[in-house]
Amino acid sequence: SPGLYIVATPIGNLGDLSPRAVEILSHADVIAVEDSRVTAKLLHHIGVKRPMIPYHDHNADGMRPGLVARMGTEAVALVSDAGTPLISDPGYKLVRDARAAGHSIVTIPGPCAAIAALTLSALPTDRFLFAGFLPPKEKARADAIAEVAGIRATLVFYESGPRLGAMLAALAAGLGNRDAAVAREITKRFEEAVTGPLETLAARYAVAPPRGEIVVIVAPPGEAPPPSTEDAEAALAEALTRLP
Ligand code: SAM
Repeated sequence: SPGLYIVATPIGNLGDLSPRAVEILSHADVIAVEDSRVTAKLLHHIGVKRPMIPYHDHNADGMRPGLVARMGTEAVALVSDAGTPLISDPGYKLVRDARAAGHSIVTIPGPCAAIAALTLSALPTDRFLFAGFLPPKEKARADAIAEVAGIRATLVFYESGPRLGAMLAALAAGLGNRDAAVAREITKRFEEAVTGPLETLAARYAVAPPRGEIVVIVAPPGEAPPPSTEDAEAALAEALTRLP
């Protein structure tokens, strides 16, 4: 039936494409894709041929109205090159405008590198902040790290191989030597998750920048030491002075 279908696709292993994703992609009237070559391979793998329309950061504003109009009468699927659309990928404005136009919106959940990396990280998963890609430039990156330094949650970052060493060093400088994990090539042949303190990981990857796609997970800040009795008494005395 007509509407928008947000379809998650594999992040490396084609076996992770869900039966429901196959069903939707097989019947979509049109598929909005980041890169038609990437999605063509996926469609070929499942023996499907559907019309594709490019929808990426550089043409999204121009393409969106036409796609939203089509959702009134056609099934429009949205995929990205890998993983879950909208997660460090285009799509949120398409969903926003589809909703504003009153179209049906359905999600077909599936692989997401951030969630897969969390499960491999051996770090707390009860509270986490997805921080996406840090800015590549040193000053902007340090500022972005300072912004999340006080957050009492596990931090999740996306990164690419060549920048990993410098990024880990910047994290160690801005967050302290917290425990961390580098998850690489998840669901692919050379999948690995390396855990250790940020400084150790930074030293390791400064020497040998890895290939492939990477998620960096960082532990929450350590427990603050309990306030001393003296601090508590001073705070109480100070508070009492402010009572009417
Ligand atoms: N939408 C995707 C998702 O749901 O994970 C993320 C798209 S983002 C443009 C691409 C980044 O995701 C990569 O630079 C890398 O940080 C991460 N990534 C994607 N696939 C991965 C994999 N197989 N292993 C590790 N990280 C991956």
